[in-house]
Amino acid sequence: MSGLNVLLKRIPYKFKTPSLLDSRAFIGGRWTPAASGATFPVYDPEDNQVAYKIANISRAEVKTAIGAAQTASKQYKQLTHRNRKNLLRKWTNLIKGNRDDLAAICTLELGKPITESYTTVDYGISFLEWFDGEIERLYGETIPAARGSNRIMTSREPQGVVAAVTPWNSPVAMILRKVGAAISAGNAVVLKPAPETPMCAIAIAKLFEQVDYPEGTLNIVTGDAAASVDIGDEMCHNPAVRHLSFTGSTSVGKLLNTECAKHLKKTSMELGGNAPFIVFEDANIQKAVDGLIACKFRSSGQTCVCANRAFVHHSIIDEFAERLQTTVDGLFKYGSVWDPDVNFGPLYSPRGVEKAMSHQEDAGGFIKEDLGPNFYVPTILTGGPSQEMRSWTQETFGPVMHLTPFETEEEVIKLANTKESGLASYFYTEDISRVWRVSEALETGMVGVRTGLVSACEQPFGGIKESGIGREGSKFGVEDYTNIKSITVGL
Ligand code: NAD
Repeated sequence: MSGLNVLLKRIPYKFKTPSLLDSRAFIGGRWTPAASGATFPVYDPEDNQVAYKIANISRAEVKTAIGAAQTASKQYKQLTHRNRKNLLRKWTNLIKGNRDDLAAICTLELGKPITESYTTVDYGISFLEWFDGEIERLYGETIPAARGSNRIMTSREPQGVVAAVTPWNSPVAMILRKVGAAISAGNAVVLKPAPETPMCAIAIAKLFEQVDYPEGTLNIVTGDAAASVDIGDEMCHNPAVRHLSFTGSTSVGKLLNTECAKHLKKTSMELGGNAPFIVFEDANIQKAVDGLIACKFRSSGQTCVCANRAFVHHSIIDEFAERLQTTVDGLFKYGSVWDPDVNFGPLYSPRGVEKAMSHQEDAGGFIKEDLGPNFYVPTILTGGPSQEMRSWTQETFGPVMHLTPFETEEEVIKLANTKESGLASYFYTEDISRVWRVSEALETGMVGVRTGLVSACEQPFGGIKESGIGREGSKFGVEDYTNIKSITVGL
């Protein structure tokens, strides 16, 4: 990890537990380089140069990891719920105790300002704390039998081996929300983290290793983009995997879902969004401005629930745009991502910059070279894109916001509902009957009314249409990783 050592000397943070940093995969309870010796590069978002190299494992090693998970799952499912809860609590406490290092790894890998990294680590921890309670609430039911003198009861059982694939944009939280739920429900997991941010997953597993879970309960299989295709294929076709849980783009989600369908494997799909954000004429304008900033410019626009298309009533759009620009200008502080006062950071990669640029359509570049090659200034454009433009049809995943005027509620609902995506939507109004009417009319899995934040550990997170299948967080997020067994007893 010589590249990493160079990087560590350059950053103004000293790791408290340097052993959390590793370049190896974690298979069957052992840290292992690729059998072939192959590695892949991870880039430093500060200068887009290779920062360090990580084990690039092969399909055969994924098979081994799945085998280890299968063995572990048989042991692990024998534990009582109380035992599972105790193990989870120990892991959670270790994660909390290493919060500084985990946040620093997020900043190192993603170029996220350190304050945002703390937010994502704390958000991840909140899910583990929630699942801690849910473990003991995995209740079954008794059902009155219609026939004879039977008694019917149901129980929830672990599924066995869960394969998980996560994206780069919020690595600690996306992993804990998914893997934490599967493990709480009594399963073993094989996780493939995004090749851009493998070290967050590795550090999480280093802490997991310190708890007395059966060896192989959590495995980390690392690979670059090409290896990911093989890893994903093995996960879809290996008969030991009973559930594939994916967070990422809709295109990759569709591909994995199609392959899993060949074996009728259960899937959970947390996919892309294209969230509408509506400001009605009766809205509190400053509240709506603050809500749009929270949901659009958080993480520099790199979240799946970011507002992507903003619709503002034509009678207030000029005032809204002016207040939005003034608030943005006064709110964000740029600078080193290690400075705790900095609250807006660069995009993760040149790929992200290119996409944001292409969604700006006409207004030229908004890069600030002095803040690094990927720094993109929050950009607000009025006039609205046409419905054929990329910023209308795709998620921008960057800090570019077009404002589109509208006239009537009926018109804006039609514009907001798209054929394909249905993850999150937001609207601002002070009219209580409109609150219900519009909430019910919006075709998304999550609706934010007078708030720009729709995600918390206690509420179900997920989309409809091509934005996903299943829910994460809440009681549903844990139940998703169980099978319902129905037992009939004749008296
Ligand atoms: P991506 O789909 O390119 O990659 C996601 C993961 O899939 C990565 O680990 C990647 O290596 C892996 N992958 C890619 N091709 C694969 C294949 N053929 N087989 C197996 N794995 C494969 O997405 P990304 O660019 O990393 O993340 C951004 C996307 O994720 C956005 O679309 C965003 O909206 C979505 N996202 C959704 C949620 C949600 O909860 N709904 C949360 C975060 C991000």
